[in-house]
Amino acid sequence: MNTVILPVTSDSLAWAKELIQDGEVVAFHTETVYGLGADATNDDAVRKIFALKGRPADNPLIAHVHADYDISRLVETPAWTQCLREKFLPGPLTMVYPSKEKVSRFVSSGLPTLSIRVPSSPVAQAFLRAVGVPVAAPSANRSKHVSPVTAQHVYDDFAGDIPLILDGGASQGGIESTVLDCTGAVPLILRAGLVTREMIASEVGACEYYTLHEGEKPKSPGMAYRHYAPACRTVFFTAAERNDALQAYREEAARGGTPVFLCEHAVAEAYPSIKSLDLGRTPEEMASNLYAHLRTAEKRASLLIGIEPLEHGGVMDGVRNRLLRAFGQDAKEQRDDT
Ligand code: AMP
Ligand code: MG
Repeated sequence: MNTVILPVTSDSLAWAKELIQDGEVVAFHTETVYGLGADATNDDAVRKIFALKGRPADNPLIAHVHADYDISRLVETPAWTQCLREKFLPGPLTMVYPSKEKVSRFVSSGLPTLSIRVPSSPVAQAFLRAVGVPVAAPSANRSKHVSPVTAQHVYDDFAGDIPLILDGGASQGGIESTVLDCTGAVPLILRAGLVTREMIASEVGACEYYTLHEGEKPKSPGMAYRHYAPACRTVFFTAAERNDALQAYREEAARGGTPVFLCEHAVAEAYPSIKSLDLGRTPEEMASNLYAHLRTAEKRASLLIGIEPLEHGGVMDGVRNRLLRAFGQDAKEQRDDT
């Protein structure tokens, strides 16, 4: 199969609609990362996503809809969730609701819930309006690989396997949406993202991170899976261990390797002679740059040396979660998926 990257035009949208109606899979730009979408009401189309990614069947997908779609067709919407939709949607917030079971059971991996996202990307909105149906979509990367933030990243993982990538340039958000469980009395964050715990709590009074207790069935089965790993050797240091990081860099260079630092701006600036991938100064910049840098590192570095940024809280919770996972530092808090 030939894989084509196209911008949104009336022609590309008409083709995307045809593909989705035919049960094919289409990749599309969103403001967080690129998605790999199929008709959420079509069992075979949804299963195709799992097969293409190599994604475990027990790791549910998110149903994407356009801004005017009436989600009460698909899910129960507790009254207190209304203000969150008004405040944060369209945008990088996925909300998990009790399902009315109107989409393929494979979307939710058999769970009684359905997660819904309304992306703000104009490309995603145009695509979702054109197709009309809810589109089940995970991130458009091979399972366990780094999520894609450009059409080229999607192409690198799926060239020859999918017909169309709807290009919208770089995904500025850079990390996947916040996943918020709205099935209980207090909203629970299953995956941290750009809509933060603090932002949600300020709207509805409370919001907690979900923590998996020993012996408990996870709310989101995907939480047990590792991912985001770049395809190069990696090593990770805390901010206090910077001298060890420098030592690791020198040893790798002396062996003839190509070591690269992945660090916040202040660290990159402090060592101008060291090759580094600069994550930036603010949590939002770090989110936006993280995956693109991890994909660059795979091509350029024999050893990627991660250095933990200093900041905590807010958007940084989401960035830290992805960064620690990429470097395999998350053994105790495996909270995400593929
Ligand atoms: P991805 O699109 O690859 O980022 O994966 C979707 C994320 O949403 C994963 O972390 C899933 O575990 C989570 N998710 C999707 N649907 C549900 C659901 N019904 N309940 C809990 N988590 C979900
Ligand atoms: Mg993913």
